[in-house]
Parts: sequence; C-alpha cells; structure tokens
Amino acid sequence: MTINILIVDDDGDIRDSMHEFMDKSGFNAFAASSAEEAIKILKVNSIEVVITDIMLPGRDGLELTDLIKSKCDIDVMVMTGYSGNYSYEEAINKGASDFLFKPVRFEEVLLRLKRVLRERQLTKERVQILEKLEKLAITDGLTRLYNLRHFYNQLEVEVDRSNRYGHSLGLLLLDIDRFKVYNDTYGHLEGDKVLIKLSQTIRSCLRTMDSAFRYGGEEFTIILPETSGEEAQTVAHRIRKAVETEKFIPEPNKPYQVTISIGVTEYCKDKEFADFIKRADKAMYLSKLAGRNKVSSLFAEKN
Ligand code: GH3
Ligand code: MG
Ligand code: MG
Repeated sequence: MTINILIVDDDGDIRDSMHEFMDKSGFNAFAASSAEEAIKILKVNSIEVVITDIMLPGRDGLELTDLIKSKCDIDVMVMTGYSGNYSYEEAINKGASDFLFKPVRFEEVLLRLKRVLRERQLTKERVQILEKLEKLAITDGLTRLYNLRHFYNQLEVEVDRSNRYGHSLGLLLLDIDRFKVYNDTYGHLEGDKVLIKLSQTIRSCLRTMDSAFRYGGEEFTIILPETSGEEAQTVAHRIRKAVETEKFIPEPNKPYQVTISIGVTEYCKDKEFADFIKRADKAMYLSKLAGRNKVSSLFAEKN
C-alpha cells in the first residue's frame, strides 16, 4: 500500500526536489507552500506523515503541528533552518515526531521518515493487541459470550444508569434442562457443541443493546437495558421457543431436543445488588419446578 506524505515548505526549490525524491522513494507525496494550503490537502487526503518547515508565511509550522495533533492521528516531522529560534523541546512538546535541521540531506530525511513509520506501525500493533486482550479478558472461551466478570461489571453499569435516569432494566437467567443426562449420554464434547450453538441462538434473539453472558457451566444471563419486566418476558419466551426448535443430532438418526428454563425479573431499586440476581435465580427455579422448558417471573414489590 502506498503511503501518502505531505511536504510543506514555502521554498519552491526544496519543496519540488523533496517531492520528486519522495515519489522516487516509493511514497505518494503531496506538496504545499503554506499551512493553509496544507490544511486543505489534509482535509481531502488520507495523509500519514507531514514534513513541514517551521518558517512559513502566515501560520507557522509549529502552529500547523499543534493543529494537526489536536485533530488527528498524523505524524509531523518539522524542519528548521533557524536552530537558535526554535528548540527541539518546543517542537516535541507540540507533538512533533522528529526535528530536522536545514539544510537537510534527503537520504537522512528518508531514514528518519522510515523510523517514524516503523514506530507508527508498532503503536498500531500495540493498540490492536491491547484491544484483543481486553476483549479476551471479558469473553468466555467456549461460547464467545461475555464472561461472569463482565456480567457483574455490566450489571453495575446498567443499575447505575437505571437509578440515574429511571429507565427500567430487565434481567434473565437461563439454565439448560437436564444437561447432565445429555453429557453423560453423548459425552462432554457433544455437550460443548450444544453450549456453543445455544449461545448463538440466544444472541440471535437479542437487540444490539442487550448482552448475553455465560454465568456458569450451563447457565446464562441476559441484561436487557431499558426493558420492563413484561417486555423481558416476551424476550424470554422468544428465546425459549428458539432453543426448543433447534435440532441437535449427537448420534446419527437420533435427534435430541434441548430445552431451557428461564427466570425473568426487573430491577426495582434493590437495596442489595445481589437481591436483583437472586430474584432472577429464584424465578428460574420456579420454571424448573413447573416442569422445565418454561418461563417464570418474579418481581419485587414496588415502593
Ligand atoms: P436441571 O434441569 O436441574 O438444570 O438439570 P441439569 O442436569 O442441567 O443440572 P445439573 O446442575 O445437575 O448439571 C449441570 C450439568 O451441566 C453438569 C455438566 O454435565 C454440565 N456442564 C456444565 N458445564 C459444562 C461445560 O462446560 N461443558 C459441558 N459439556 N457440560 C457442562
Ligand atoms: Mg445449572
Ligand atoms: Mg441445568
């Protein structure tokens, strides 16, 4: 992929020869004779590095650096012929990635540009790795749903939001019915396949603002922001039905129906955070007691 760079210098000879040199070195170079012209080019082109003279008519190169760094992620290398007037420190504090003294040798500019690009790439990779690690830390390895740790964090966030804005907040707790029998009959690996498939089914029944978590072995929770108890029941019925309809064939010609029991509750300014979860858990057990493959609800008395 060609890298776009922008050269800003009011000296036409330097500008043109550096432009030509950079093009020959494999870059796609743009050129501007002032900060104002540079800004126009930056607005319509995806530039990765700006090489600018400090002394420019109108807005100078340091002001340009300041502006660029406050608005976007572009590296700026500054050049100066007046080493006494501008310090390295000043340029770096404005966010410049490098500082060059004029007259510059183009080969040296090229080497420094390559170093800036390498650091840029390393930073990008570091950010990507951090994002991946952050995602891994909140994801359940088997089902790819969010994990228990993230459930507690997220529930706290949503409870705070509900307290602040008075929005309703729904919570579902799901447990696979007689899953031990399935595992004992067909083996743990087949059981794992059920967990993976059901997680996808659960996810397909939710809106983007809802989130599903693996609560424990074969238990799941779903946080439904801005959702009343009644609406949460509708979601629960939709999930129960979708799971029931799913076909599993752990052995040839032996289709097996997997079902889940669901407990539904709504946040009700609970004194204890745990009471909210306990209510969903109790509701789920009501579904088990009622014969499984059921949706049951338990709501707190409203004060
Ligand atoms: P109930 O309807 O009362 O919920 O019955 P159950 O058999 O589902 O409940 P129980 O708590 O007795 O057993 C849960 C089973 O879930 C035990 C284990 O075989 C299975 N299980 C838990 N975690 C995993 C897992 O990560 N993979 C697989 N394959 N099975 C799991
Ligand atoms: Mg269980
Ligand atoms: Mg179970």
